[in-house]
Amino acid sequence: MNNALTLSGEIIWVIGIVAWYVIRYPFERRAKRIRIVSSRRSPSETVGLVSALFGLAIFPAFYVATGIPGAADRPTWLWSIIFGTILFGSALVLFRISHKELGRNWSVTLEIREKHKLVSGGPYRLIRHPMYTSFLLMALGQAFLLSNWLVALAGLVGFAILFFPRVGKEERMMTENFGPQYLAYMERTKRLVPYVY
Ligand code: SAH
Repeated sequence: MNNALTLSGEIIWVIGIVAWYVIRYPFERRAKRIRIVSSRRSPSETVGLVSALFGLAIFPAFYVATGIPGAADRPTWLWSIIFGTILFGSALVLFRISHKELGRNWSVTLEIREKHKLVSGGPYRLIRHPMYTSFLLMALGQAFLLSNWLVALAGLVGFAILFFPRVGKEERMMTENFGPQYLAYMERTKRLVPYVY
């Protein structure tokens, strides 16, 4: 029974990560055709992106495929699979809505595109970084769905290495580009969690 439960957590995670990629792919394709006006791509940006990819996709996928590192396995609980599914599902919904809202202004890294507009609708009405919120929800979902302490840690650390060095730079870039409009937008929004942070 416990094995079947562990396996269902893993299957749900795999479906989730595939859905994540399906949501993102069209935006990645379209972004290639929209001219970049200014870019803040830097070595620390690359480190953040690679860490997030490793912690949220490569390492958990390796664990699901091989069971390594088995020494860090924890018991599987039904409540944890249910909770993880809710978290991962919410992450995907928020991920999709934020992509739709950001539209042609989307970039994998920190970039200002031709005719870039400041988006402040949908989830952006309350928080400035809903996509990063969805990464955090994904990392938490992964921690509850996969029964391994190291896999849980990897997702959260991957998120942190991407988010913390990036968020200040992104807000500076947006302020330099949009001036008082972005400053006013910052006044009325939080970063990740509505009304909290
Ligand atoms: N931090 C946002 C967006 C991530 S995508 C989020 O978590 O939802 C990164 C790109 O989005 C950056 O290159 C930046 O140019 C763009 N961006 C970030 N916030 C934006 C906004 N409010 N309006 C328009 N573009 C934005």
